[in-house]
Amino acid sequence: MTRSQQIVALLDEYARRRRAAQQEQQQRIRLAAERDPMIAQLQERIAGRFPRQARLILADPGRSAAIAGQLKEDTLKDLAAITGRLAGLGLPPDYLDIRYTCDKCQDTGYIGEERARFCPCFEAELARAQWGSRVREAHSFEAFDPSIFPGEAQRQRTERARALCERYAQEFPSGSHPFLLLTGNTGLGKTFLLDAIANRVQQRGHPALRLTAFQMLSGMRAFHLSETVEDASLSQMISCPLLLIDDLGTEPMLRNITVEYLFLLLSERAGRHTVIATNLSLPQIGERYGERIVSRLVDTVSSQVIGLTGEDLRIRRCT
Ligand SMILES: [Zn+2]
Repeated sequence: MTRSQQIVALLDEYARRRRAAQQEQQQRIRLAAERDPMIAQLQERIAGRFPRQARLILADPGRSAAIAGQLKEDTLKDLAAITGRLAGLGLPPDYLDIRYTCDKCQDTGYIGEERARFCPCFEAELARAQWGSRVREAHSFEAFDPSIFPGEAQRQRTERARALCERYAQEFPSGSHPFLLLTGNTGLGKTFLLDAIANRVQQRGHPALRLTAFQMLSGMRAFHLSETVEDASLSQMISCPLLLIDDLGTEPMLRNITVEYLFLLLSERAGRHTVIATNLSLPQIGERYGERIVSRLVDTVSSQVIGLTGEDLRIRRCT
């Protein structure tokens, strides 16, 4: 799905949520009225007062302020009476209020007078939907076929890479090496193995956040530029039990963002399961991001590196 298709789908979901909130409110109103019919009468009186007062104001515009003041006073009195009757039934004062999932946007997904901006809740759900959709379900350990690689030696090494990745996914959230770096050229199965880990961990009931490096950077950039601290993308990246980043090295280098936030992310995720796939070699990672990022990535205590390089598929553990 493209971003705009996802927005349309999510707005549908929000409309459904809003209807459900309204129906659920109507249900509570019915229940309360069954137990105390006076509550329904007070509500009808409040509802009927508005059109009556509006007609009075239209008939006599000079008295509009006085009429509006009276309307407010009468309405507050009736609302207080309703609250008192709810208390008599053992119900809280807000029992008849509509309950939205998000009070800020009232489940419209928009905020602001012009509905010009998406609510942070909507942005966060959209990001989740976009991120979540990228894991290819067909990429499973069962479907991974080392026999497609040329040469017996390479097939065996590929099979070993598959076994290491499967063990990583199977042992999650334990396992002694939470950082896993998959390096090597395109076409050797890095993305396949990364997706297979994400799928297996999710099947085992754990949340996994799978991003391309470009999406990772978009989240960091959004956080960096947002005036509020409500942008959820960075905190999701930091706190998600399993984070998988594909294609590290293909994202743009933004000054004050790419290197700084990557270092922050890797530091904050120390000890948490993190899988990174990249076409870059370790020296190339050092050139691009600096040595302190390399040392975060290939920490001798918590990292393992699986190198898939061309005809010569190497597998080594850093320990
Ligand atoms: Zn909202």
